[in-house]
Amino acid sequence: MTTFEKTSLNKVRRIPERGHYDAGTIYPIIDEALICHVGFIENGQPFVIPTIHARREDKLFLHGAKASRLLKYIASGEPLCITITLLDGLVLARSTFESSMNYRSVVIFGQGRILETYFEKEAALTVLTEHLVKGRWNDTRPPTTKELDATTVVEVEILSASAKIRTGPPVDVDEDYELPIWAGVLPIQQQYLAPIDDPKLADGLTPPENIAHYTRSRAK
Ligand SMILES: Cc1cc2nc3c(=O)[nH]c(=O)nc-3n(C[C@H](O)[C@H](O)[C@H](O)COP(=O)(O)OP(=O)(O)OC[C@H]3O[C@@H](n4cnc5c(N)ncnc54)[C@H](O)[C@@H]3O)c2cc1C
Repeated sequence: MTTFEKTSLNKVRRIPERGHYDAGTIYPIIDEALICHVGFIENGQPFVIPTIHARREDKLFLHGAKASRLLKYIASGEPLCITITLLDGLVLARSTFESSMNYRSVVIFGQGRILETYFEKEAALTVLTEHLVKGRWNDTRPPTTKELDATTVVEVEILSASAKIRTGPPVDVDEDYELPIWAGVLPIQQQYLAPIDDPKLADGLTPPENIAHYTRSRAK
């Protein structure tokens, strides 16, 4: 599996021991997350736009309406920075200064290309759909050519990436450990609740197993 070269672009400088560059660490974080944030600069103005992503090998897929500024920018092949964050806990130290969060985050640098053929687009949309709910592609009506024409799908090659991971309890300054202040971690877990039927649901339908008992595998 890929290990991204440490360069001036992706090298974690602040607390470097939290940095990881191997795809074995980075890709499961990408795969667990439901959304990413895409950063780009257009005419000197930075934008950071949240959107759905999915990964296949060393590529990310994004999609949207034809008119989307983000996708038009990506199609131009200009550089992108994509971030993904999974939040694992509030780290409550004895001082505000040492209080923090436990997290697994990824920063990706890449370049996009627009997918032109129906074949490529449909394959990428399958990956995007399956990323959200495994098995959903086969359970839904496939897109028509009109729908495919109205959708821009881009592939972003991951050229460089890093992960930064914080785990564990707060790290207070020595003299603070004696203070009568509670300290520790408040864990955070994303929870999926019972599905809610569409009010227009046809009679006799119940949620399939992959939705009724939805789970996402957790990256390490
Ligand atoms: C949930 C969360 C909360 C945070 N809260 C704070 C906060 O309050 N204050 C604060 O200063 N920092 C916070 N951080 C850490 C923050 O993301 C940066 O790592 C930190 O601010 C250092 O920034 P820098 O530009 O100096 O990093 P540098 O280490 O100089 O960045 C160099 C390169 O390292 C990589 N890198 C940096 N940060 C990350 C990251 N988080 N994930 C993956 N790769 C990374 C990128 O490739 C980047 O280009 C938080 C992170 C997360 C995920």
